[in-house]
Amino acid sequence: MCFIQVLLGDMGTGKTSLVLRFVKGQFYDFQESTIGAAFFSQVLSINEATVKFDIWDTAGQERYHSLAPMYYRGAAAAVVVYDISSVDTFVRAKKWVQELQRQGNPNLVMVLVANKIDLETKREVDVEEGARYAQDNGMFFIETSAKTAHNVNELFYEIGDFMLQIS
Ligand code: GDP
Ligand code: MG
Repeated sequence: MCFIQVLLGDMGTGKTSLVLRFVKGQFYDFQESTIGAAFFSQVLSINEATVKFDIWDTAGQERYHSLAPMYYRGAAAAVVVYDISSVDTFVRAKKWVQELQRQGNPNLVMVLVANKIDLETKREVDVEEGARYAQDNGMFFIETSAKTAHNVNELFYEIGDFMLQIS
């Protein structure tokens, strides 16, 4: 099974870092900003099935906003990322969710990711707040850290597992 997934969210929330952690098992302290979008592909074996993830990692800057529909319209799953240490990125994540609800594919599987949980001391968005928003909008919710690898494989594995179940 193969499906297309898109990562959306403010610049600097850790989208590229999450994908690189998943695909390469590594973390970079000085990750260069993505220009336009980057494409990654990864194969996982889930419950004896082979699942291929085709991942569009978008840039997040406002000036690339008009390109985003090209990536999310063809996607089966969308991962919207915010940074728990910045409430602004949570506000921006909600804007992405609204846009996906209005303009995304109606069967789009949506996941809200609260990244950078290693920055607990700088936390500006409570777990409950993120979880409640996700629940109210029919999204999966998970807190991750691309830096420590916490929940990163779980994030992709859960999505793959769910896509298998509904395929
Ligand atoms: P993107 O713009 O959403 O793709 O974000 P990047 O992946 O480029 O990450 C932006 C910055 O945040 C980089 O300096 C990363 O090293 C850092 N970063 C990404 N994920 C984490 C995380 O989980 N914890 C911490 N502390 N820093 C992170
Ligand atoms: Mg990036």
